[in-house]
Amino acid sequence: MSLIVNNLQANIDDSPILKGLNLEVPKGEVHAIMGPNGSGKSTLSKVIAGHEDYEVTGGSVTLDGQDLLDMEIDERSRAGLFLAFQYPMEVPGVSNANFIRAALQARLPKGEELDAVAYYKSLYEKMDILEMDRKFTARAVNEGFSGGEKKRNEILQMMMLDPTFCILDETDSGLDIDALKIVSQGVNAMRSPERGFLVITHYQRLLDYIKPDVVHVLSDGQIVRTGGPELAHELEESGYDFLKEPVTA
Ligand code: ADP
Ligand code: MG
Repeated sequence: MSLIVNNLQANIDDSPILKGLNLEVPKGEVHAIMGPNGSGKSTLSKVIAGHEDYEVTGGSVTLDGQDLLDMEIDERSRAGLFLAFQYPMEVPGVSNANFIRAALQARLPKGEELDAVAYYKSLYEKMDILEMDRKFTARAVNEGFSGGEKKRNEILQMMMLDPTFCILDETDSGLDIDALKIVSQGVNAMRSPERGFLVITHYQRLLDYIKPDVVHVLSDGQIVRTGGPELAHELEESGYDFLKEPVTA
């Protein structure tokens, strides 16, 4: 699916964070967003997903022409959207397997039961790809997981829900190099002409494994530069100093 963000403005506690943000991710493409800390990257992802702390004060977000901002969070998910959180939440008392199963069950038409055998087969297949031990099925969602285990678990949920538009918010942070490769393989296996990806990252390193079609720089609530994969290399070398340089005509 393709995502179009048009002139998006959003506040938190009355202070503006997104200040007229424009972005278009055509289906089939992987776009990366980089940018300094505090520039609004996570805010963008949470506003798209429908987090209630953020007040949208202007602009629009559409997924294949459907107005996302008008939808409840679960409707956005059913429309095909998935967000892998920068800081995944712990859900004590709910096992990982039951959590994902409930999410899948919730998508079925009323009265239809998820096939348990097929479900576990699919779950184990994906866990094998992500090299996750089977013990993670019975453990409470993210409870006591290491940073890297939480990030793998986000990707497991993504693979199981099979969304058509995926946003990954700094999924690479907290991963060692082997985990980074494994997670990237999972993402790359999901790339398809029908699916779009928005990958938020601080590091070029991730983009060595998940090759983006387009790289954007977000600064102070707006996309200030857009380029090809070479832009990520340039940022890695010279940082974000260009943001401070006076604009010359
Ligand atoms: P990034 O992901 O680019 O590092 P964020 O979107 O997390 O940036 O944050 C953008 C700005 O919004 C920061 O100044 C941050 O302190 C502020 N902000 C984000 N979420 C909240 C919140 N829940 N309460 C108060 N301020 C917030
Ligand atoms: Mg962030």
